[in-house]
Amino acid sequence: MGLEHRGVTIWLTGLSGAGKSTITEALERKLRACGCKLEVLDGDIVRTNLTKGLGFSKEDRDENIRRIGFVSHLLTRNGVIVLVSAISPYRAIREEVRGRIGDFIEVYVSAPLEVCEKRDVKGLYKRARSGEIKNFTGIDDPYEPPLDPEVNCETHQETLDESVGKVIAKMEEMGYLPAQTAIAAS
Ligand code: ADP
Repeated sequence: MGLEHRGVTIWLTGLSGAGKSTITEALERKLRACGCKLEVLDGDIVRTNLTKGLGFSKEDRDENIRRIGFVSHLLTRNGVIVLVSAISPYRAIREEVRGRIGDFIEVYVSAPLEVCEKRDVKGLYKRARSGEIKNFTGIDDPYEPPLDPEVNCETHQETLDESVGKVIAKMEEMGYLPAQTAIAAS
């Protein structure tokens, strides 16, 4: 018997290299170990199927997020915990998706651009700086930070465990997970 929980979308937004995927993977491991019903929608993977063909103009980025939001909504209302990891640079579309889903926790995963660029996990900043990639968020494309996210993870000054702990604590506080210490300890 898995842990009793409610459906919710955990939406991780932030610059490339900020730590969205790393936090998502750690959260996934932890929640699966407790038997939660869970699905992960990773921006990079989604772009190879659900939103294949979309580019990086504002219109296409918004459409990408709208489709991810649509699927998240279907899952969330069926009791699934949905982890979305996507840069999702525009505030208005994030707010639109939040409004539609309702059960929604926005996690702003942040680190200064210099830190993300130094990490350069996928080598994309280098390619953006050299001009090989255009419209790269943070370099020559905008990122609009959330104004009032439920959770702030500042990954340049906290450990991965601390970041994950903050999200779990917020899920408990908002009643999506039963308040207990079992998850923290697992
Ligand atoms: P994104 O998915 O946002 O593009 P990644 O998760 O791929 O970013 O990369 C983030 C990098 O930052 C990883 O190399 C990770 O090990 C590192 N990192 C350092 N501290 C943290 C933290 N507290 N949370 C998440 N990632 C962190």
